[in-house]
Amino acid sequence: MNRCQKCVLPEQTPNITFDDSGVCNYCHTYRPVSYQGEDAFIARLEPFRNGARPYDCLVPISGGRDSSYVLLKLVKDYKMRVLAVNYENPFTVPQARTNIKNACQTLGVEVVHFCNGDKNHRITFRQSVEAWLQRPSPGLIPIVCIGCKPAWWHIYGVARRHHIPLIVSGGNPYEVISYKRELVGISRDEAANKAFYKYVYAIRTMLQNRAYFKPRLLLTMASSYLLGNPNSLGLKLVGRNITWLELFNFVPWNETTILNRIRQELGWDYPQNLPSSWRFDCRVKHMVDLMYLATLQLTDKEDFYAKLVREGRMDRATAVQRLTLENKPQIEEIGILLDQAGIRDTALVDALFAQTAVSQAAMETVG
Ligand SMILES: [Zn+2]
Repeated sequence: MNRCQKCVLPEQTPNITFDDSGVCNYCHTYRPVSYQGEDAFIARLEPFRNGARPYDCLVPISGGRDSSYVLLKLVKDYKMRVLAVNYENPFTVPQARTNIKNACQTLGVEVVHFCNGDKNHRITFRQSVEAWLQRPSPGLIPIVCIGCKPAWWHIYGVARRHHIPLIVSGGNPYEVISYKRELVGISRDEAANKAFYKYVYAIRTMLQNRAYFKPRLLLTMASSYLLGNPNSLGLKLVGRNITWLELFNFVPWNETTILNRIRQELGWDYPQNLPSSWRFDCRVKHMVDLMYLATLQLTDKEDFYAKLVREGRMDRATAVQRLTLENKPQIEEIGILLDQAGIRDTALVDALFAQTAVSQAAMETVG
């Protein structure tokens, strides 16, 4: 397989081109992430320290590595009085629940768990996978994750009920996957939130596949557009008195530091049958990887590691080595997921596995 000589993006990345030295256009237009610094973050926290209220801030936690680290930093390093909140996603793996329990016990933090109608999430996932399988389109893959989006609405609700004016979450700047923006016709160079254009693209593409036209699925899509993240219109209105901060806009995201600290200080772990700790907490991630592998022969990890290489946070050889190891379909996990979602007819998913195996073998032969 031919990859960019500077980062690791492969030749099948959407809209990729290479110069004479084998360096890709994604590298040429890349703008390094800039951080506001830890002092700026601490200064932003100051106005929210208020002994009159039971909590200074709310931290959404999934049991994954980044949100666990945010909780640790807020409580231990910044001495904030934190309430944790957890969406009980029906596809969460048990280790993630154990991580939440361990972290909250160790740090002495209370946690509010909520579920958003397990049935609704399962059905939305099943319908989006079944529709996608009818006519696989890489641009529509993100719809399978839509069941989690309404959780933000409930997180803001928890903040309001407990009179907490600050939410701190652990989104990391390298996770904005550039090729997905290219797929839906949005320039990878634009930093602005382009949710509207993503939805226009999704609706246009869905018109070619009527299997998507299920009331529950469409309703979840509409609500995720209006309420699906802190930048959405609905949450900006509802959360006018609530400040939302991302730790990793201030403090550099560093995988080694994060893993070392959460392992040592919180007893954090991930299932040893998985090749990577990234997003291990939800099984849907494995299905998403399979869908990208079957249609584009790459996954989010290519883009994520390419960014880390450009930022000098990972060397290229390590990234290539990791991709070889990690970009294997997780057959067992996907089997459990399909069962949990009630997808009984797995013939089409089996076809995806076969397609992925054939294209991976072909790429290994080439390169
Ligand atoms: Zn490159």
